[in-house]
Amino acid sequence: MTVTYLGAATLLFDDGETRFLVDPYLSRIALKDLVFRRVQTDTSRVDALLGGAWAGGLDAVLVTHSHFDHVLDVGYIAHNAGAEVFGSESTRQICLGSRVANERIHVVQDGTRARLGEFDILFVAAAHSPMRWFMDDLGKTVDTPLPPPQHIVRYREGGSFHLLIRHNGQSIYVNPSASDLDQVPDSIRADVVFLGMGVMSRQGKEFHQDHYQYSVARLMPSMVIPIHWDNYCLPDPKALDLIPASISRTADWFSEVITWTQQDGIAFVIVPGGRSISLFSRGP
Ligand SMILES: [Zn+2]
Repeated sequence: MTVTYLGAATLLFDDGETRFLVDPYLSRIALKDLVFRRVQTDTSRVDALLGGAWAGGLDAVLVTHSHFDHVLDVGYIAHNAGAEVFGSESTRQICLGSRVANERIHVVQDGTRARLGEFDILFVAAAHSPMRWFMDDLGKTVDTPLPPPQHIVRYREGGSFHLLIRHNGQSIYVNPSASDLDQVPDSIRADVVFLGMGVMSRQGKEFHQDHYQYSVARLMPSMVIPIHWDNYCLPDPKALDLIPASISRTADWFSEVITWTQQDGIAFVIVPGGRSISLFSRGP
């Protein structure tokens, strides 16, 4: 199985039979447009980046919450690929606004399981990481179809999920938004954790340590792969740069996680933008 990292929290899973995306945000709209304009999918950019995935067929798109940097491109991609969508009711409304057929949209709850080929996916409700007061929309929902273009504040969080993805006896945990894991059952274990890094660095050290315990240590993985660490206002997901230090001290949070994973004997593997990592392949 390969997993390709395409910037922000965008992951493409492919086992040769089944292909699905998690939280695709490939439009990577410039900061001035995010602030001052209503935004929509940059279709030429998405087409260019997903060339291989389109050609091979895309079975599904999984959406962990409906902030713009996780959901903006889902409608365009799902509509054009004829892919199934799994996400919250808010995600359903956003997709309806992009003409995705209602019967292809599957609204998930805590504990919903989805089967995609050999992939078995569990949706786990989890709190989004704290947001700054002027952007705090946690728990707020999108209640009517949302046709693009829209200002980014219209893409309300709508509840957050993590994903436990099982495949041939192995398991992958995707925690895309550095969120709090208080609600996640203690019984969950994962071989690989994809860990959202971005906004964590605005929190204090104690929060970081708790977060590491919840989101990495108690899952007992052998590998942690950071995601959502890049400045997604830069256009090319194949040339990622860190979120500017003035916004988020992501480099400090990297240092802490690298230190703690080393202490715990866990590999910390950075997958560059546009590159794939092969997981669980059986050696010769
Ligand atoms: Zn978010």
